[in-house]
Amino acid sequence: MVQEKMKRPEKTRTVIDDEIPLRGVLKCHCGNPLSGAPSRGKSGKYFYYYKCRHSKHNNISAIKAHNQFLEACELMSLPSTRVRKIRTVTKSSLDLEMESNRKKVIEKRTQLQEVEEKLFSVEEKWIKNEINKDTYDRWYSIYNNEILNLKGAIERLSNDQSKAFSILEDNLNLLTDMRHVYMVSDTLQKREFVNRVFDSNLYYENGIYRTPTMLGLLSHNHLKMKEKGLLIYEKKEDLLDEDPLSGEGGIRTLDTVIPYTHFPGVLIRPL
Ligand SMILES: [Zn+2]
Repeated sequence: MVQEKMKRPEKTRTVIDDEIPLRGVLKCHCGNPLSGAPSRGKSGKYFYYYKCRHSKHNNISAIKAHNQFLEACELMSLPSTRVRKIRTVTKSSLDLEMESNRKKVIEKRTQLQEVEEKLFSVEEKWIKNEINKDTYDRWYSIYNNEILNLKGAIERLSNDQSKAFSILEDNLNLLTDMRHVYMVSDTLQKREFVNRVFDSNLYYENGIYRTPTMLGLLSHNHLKMKEKGLLIYEKKEDLLDEDPLSGEGGIRTLDTVIPYTHFPGVLIRPL
C-alpha cells in the first residue's frame, strides 16, 4: 500500500495515437510539446484536444488543428510546371554524373591493371629468389590493398543510377498534392513529415501554426498561409534556405532582418 502511494516515475515516452498524430511533435508557444487527450462530449462521443501542461496555454480541438494543417499542406503543393523543371534539372545532373562516373571507371580499370602487373612481377622476383620473404610480404600486402580499393571503387562507380532516378520520377508528382501525401500517411509518417518539413520546430499560438524553419521547396506559399490564418513562417536566417532539388538559392525576404524570433530558444543571428 505504501508502494502504491509512492510517486511513479514521470512518463516521457509519447504514446502513438492515430486520433492525435501531432501529440508530442507539435509544440506550445512556450516550447513544451503538446499532449493530447480525448474528452467526452454530451452525446457520449469523444472529442480530442491538444493541450499544454500550463493551464492557460493551448487547448485546441484536434479536428480544428488537423483541418488547418491539411489546408497548409495543400498550399505546400508545387505547381506542375515547377515539378517538370525539377525533373529536367535532376535528369541532366544525373546524366552528367553518370558520364563522369563512366570516365572514372575507365581510369580505375587502367590503374587496376598496372597494380596487378606490379603484383605479378613481385611474385616473379620472389619465385626467382631475387627478394626475401619480408620484402615480398610487404609489397604483396601493399599491392593487394590497392587492388581491393580499386575494385571497390569500380563497383561503386558502376552502380546503375537510372534506377534511383526512376524511383524519384515515380514520386516527384506527389509534390503537386501535398495534402494527399499527408492524408494517406500513417501516424508515424505524419510525425516524420512534420519533423522533416519544419525541422522539428512546429509551434501553435493564438490559433495559428508557427515555425521558424521550413523546407524551402514547400514554403513558396507561406504568405498565403499567413493570410489564411493557417501558418506563420517567421524565417530563421540561412536555415533550410537551399532548395535541395532545383539548386536555386532561396529568395531572401524582409523577414530575415528580424534579429530574434519569438520562438523559445530560437535566435536569429543579430545582423
Ligand atoms: Zn505552453
